[in-house]
Amino acid sequence: MERFVGIEAGGTKFVCAIGNRQGEISERTVFPTETPEIVLPKIIDYIHQQALHGKIDAIGIGCFGPLELDRKSSQYGSITATPKPGWRYFNIVEKFKNLFDLPIGFDTDVNAAALGEHYWGAAQQSDHFIYLTVGTGIGGGVMINGKLLHGALHPEMGHLLIPQDKTQDAFEGICPYHHNCLEGLASGPSLMKRWGVESALDLPPEHEAWDLEAYYLAAACANYTLTLSPQKIILGGGVMKQKNLFSKIHQLLPNLLNNYILHENITNTDKIKDYIIPAGLGDNAGIAGAIALAVQSYAYQEIA
Ligand code: ADP
Ligand code: ZN
Repeated sequence: MERFVGIEAGGTKFVCAIGNRQGEISERTVFPTETPEIVLPKIIDYIHQQALHGKIDAIGIGCFGPLELDRKSSQYGSITATPKPGWRYFNIVEKFKNLFDLPIGFDTDVNAAALGEHYWGAAQQSDHFIYLTVGTGIGGGVMINGKLLHGALHPEMGHLLIPQDKTQDAFEGICPYHHNCLEGLASGPSLMKRWGVESALDLPPEHEAWDLEAYYLAAACANYTLTLSPQKIILGGGVMKQKNLFSKIHQLLPNLLNNYILHENITNTDKIKDYIIPAGLGDNAGIAGAIALAVQSYAYQEIA
């Protein structure tokens, strides 16, 4: 049976795991995110150790951005303008390519999660869908025609500019670039700052915070619906553990679109529950996604 290494490179931690073509994870470990000089030798050692137990077939890296994903670029495989110490313009793919003679899948953490959901999770029947994570930040991955969308760079769906009625919500937002973009208004840290709590978990389910949160997420889903025409929108990440958000978004979205999109996914009160949905892989979406990138890169090599 094939064995794949998944590396989920996040802002606070790197998760490494071994999985198979079915997305079953047999082994995982976590390292805190430090500079490349500190964390990469630990990961390389982990892969060498795992290789002692059986052949590894491919490596997949789902990574925090921004990334250079254009294979024609000499910088392909790099993390680009990040403020994280040591990672700015660091070519993570090249590092692994130089050490392991294996196919290496590489994409944003959210595109990776989208691919994992497509292979093994909530989007197995969909070729056009969005995976949005609502956590410390907000980010989205997109699959169109069965392929992950990159475009000129890659989508930055968390920084969508959305309407804010300042008479209802005077919060200035926390995005250092745009203040009141979606991430600035609706990420976990924005909930914490706006309502003065240590964690979004401290806000009880009946708190007005959740109506406002649902409104911003519904507005984002309206814009994604209008621009990308997805078959599904998967909402994952820590904040979406508040399951009440889903029913609120299901109610708000048709009102925002106001009968303009006459598709049953929006107009039918049952079908909309299958349109805006939780991640099928739950907390595993990120690492399963990294393994999915490895599986995909292995499959491309089989075709080539
Ligand atoms: P990250 O985005 O860092 O990968 P998460 O997706 O877990 O991690 O998101 C972390 C954020 O989610 C934090 O801001 C936290 O306040 C919020 N969060 C975590 N669990 C819950 C919960 N059960 N309900 C609401 N918010 C939560
Ligand atoms: Zn922003």
